[in-house]
Amino acid sequence: MVNRLIKLLKLSTSRYILTSIVLVHIILLPFLYTTMMYAYKNNTYEQFETQTRDIAGLLTDVLSTKYLLDDFKSISETLDSAILSGIISYIDIIGREDFIITPTITTSLTENDFNENSQVSNFRESIFFIKIPFYFKQPDNIAYHLRIGFDKSHLNDQFILARNSIILILSAYFLIIITIIAINTRYISTPLRHLRKYSNEIASGNTDIELQTHSQLTDVRDLTFDLEKMRLALVNLALRMQHKATHDDLTGLPNRFLFTDRLQSTVTLSARNQQSFAILLIDLDRFKEINDTLGHNIGDEVLKVLSERMCHGIRESDTLARIGGDEFAVILIDVGLIVAEKIARKIIQLIEPSFYINGHSLKLGASIGISIFPEDGSNPGTLMQKADISMYHAKNNNLNITSYHPDLDSDHYENLVLSHNLKSSIDNGEFEARFQPKVNIKNKRLSGCELLLRWEHPDMGTILPDKFIPLAEKENMIGELTRWTIKHHATQFKKLISIYPDFKISINISPNDLLDFSLLNFINEIITSDNLPASNLYIEVTENAIMKNPVRSAEILNRFCDLGIKISVDDFGTGYSSLAYLQKFPISELKIDKSFISNLTKDSNNYPIVSATITMAHDLGISVVAEGVEQESTLKLLRNLDCDYAQGYYYGQPRHFDEIFMWIENYNKNKAN
Ligand code: C2E
Ligand code: CA
Ligand code: CA
Repeated sequence: MVNRLIKLLKLSTSRYILTSIVLVHIILLPFLYTTMMYAYKNNTYEQFETQTRDIAGLLTDVLSTKYLLDDFKSISETLDSAILSGIISYIDIIGREDFIITPTITTSLTENDFNENSQVSNFRESIFFIKIPFYFKQPDNIAYHLRIGFDKSHLNDQFILARNSIILILSAYFLIIITIIAINTRYISTPLRHLRKYSNEIASGNTDIELQTHSQLTDVRDLTFDLEKMRLALVNLALRMQHKATHDDLTGLPNRFLFTDRLQSTVTLSARNQQSFAILLIDLDRFKEINDTLGHNIGDEVLKVLSERMCHGIRESDTLARIGGDEFAVILIDVGLIVAEKIARKIIQLIEPSFYINGHSLKLGASIGISIFPEDGSNPGTLMQKADISMYHAKNNNLNITSYHPDLDSDHYENLVLSHNLKSSIDNGEFEARFQPKVNIKNKRLSGCELLLRWEHPDMGTILPDKFIPLAEKENMIGELTRWTIKHHATQFKKLISIYPDFKISINISPNDLLDFSLLNFINEIITSDNLPASNLYIEVTENAIMKNPVRSAEILNRFCDLGIKISVDDFGTGYSSLAYLQKFPISELKIDKSFISNLTKDSNNYPIVSATITMAHDLGISVVAEGVEQESTLKLLRNLDCDYAQGYYYGQPRHFDEIFMWIENYNKNKAN
């Protein structure tokens, strides 16, 4: 109720206190006045009555010393003197029957006016009549009554005087109280008003004003102190929020938002100072694999470690930001191409050394694209686009660093065109398989072939899978491409198998394909409809593809196994899984990645790894293929290590279907010799 009233009146504290006090006094003052007047009147009446009784008593005492008959004159004089005293307006003595003694002085009242009153206050007239019995000093003992009328009119004057005094006192009291309260409430309201002003300033964003008060009131001081604490907490919170909004939670580096902001400022500043600056766009290589195979926690740790390392490669005035999952960007102020490339190399060197996280030994690389202001662009958008094109060029061509060059635009454009053409190219049958032989090292017999796809583009010539497979994966076309490849080459498989019944055909399955149940069903249909023996087929999947979703992979690989198709683990050694873990999957064959084989010598670091892999795989009943065998010496080493199969340029480049028959015939002929 009070709250509603406050709201209604929109009262400030001081006005609220004042109004309350005025309201209380509006009720209190009339009550005080009435009570005081009542007490005063009662008291006055009481005094007056006592006085009249005293006078009457005195008179009766005097009269009772008189003999009625002897002292008649003296009695009259006594009554006269009573009248003359001024406060008595009427007096007489009455006895039995009509006996009456009146004063000799005439009064305005007659005996008929007498009307006895019991209380002074009870009558309204200005005369207070009383009647007192007494005895004269004579032997007959007859009672007489003295009747007196006291003039009461002076009491009213007293009352008026008293009323004025009380009103005066109460008014003075009221004024004093209001003044004191008004002064005191100013002590509260003034600092409160200041605090309110400060609070409004803070609310409008001006958080730098320190809250202070000169008030001596502890409540106000405490409130000021609390508000100041709140202001500091707000300032702190705002700083934290600002940091959070502009920085990456994980690495603490500036985020894309802040990077864009700084890039804009750097462009403006560099244009004004006629300076150049560089943007480095850094994309970690194989980070996605780590994330997919070892989990996000380890992925996060990797990002933290590498961000810290990269920080050491740049100056404090430069900006290193995390602008995407595994994408970083650097602004190098007042730097040209030569220095930018030098710093990029330094960053690569900082990233590359291997490190340990949770018992995993990890090693990553990076692809860096560089663009320079003002040569490559005069605004942030163009500069970022050029750095992006350069970075993709570095990535697609296994280069660590690429600086922007106009030729790259055509490369980028080419990718765009290829992505766009993919669908129609599949329909037009622009893809074609090459066959690469897989040879049994021990008995030198041809075991089978791996199918490697080529895109025979009408304008661009032969395009290699390293270029179009990532595009097909990105465009979600890989499933269609894989289906097309299998269906389109099924007749060729059948022809090979019909001539060489043990001939094995290996088909590459991309990570996206592996988890697709419909592809499994599709292959099953082809096997059935084309009457292809499943036992002659291998599917090649990378260990990282399996580790992407181990549970689902196990289920699908088992289904392939049930069909009679064998599983080969491709590029073994480049991922992060262990053979012990892969043992859980129905694996028949392991293909050691060509990076371990191409330069294999007895002294190379890879030798013990290759040796141990072969031994362990054999222990698990898995056969081993060495990819990328280019020299006879390598083949000899592998034979000594008891490796089962070899594949590589040593036996020649992957060949057209028509050429492979000739090659097989020649090989078998030479082998016999
Ligand atoms: P991969 O499965 O590891 O295939 C082996 C790659 O190494 C082939 O490259 C092959 O030409 C090359 N190679 C063979 N012997 C040697 C050698 O002695 N030295 C060197 N340096 N390289 C050798 P290619 O044909 O360019 O294929 C690259 C990758 O593209 C393949 O790697 C495979 O992952 C993928 N790929 C090829 N065809 C298909 C396909 O039909 N479907 C899918 N999903 N991926 C495919
Ligand atoms: Ca392969
Ligand atoms: Ca491989």
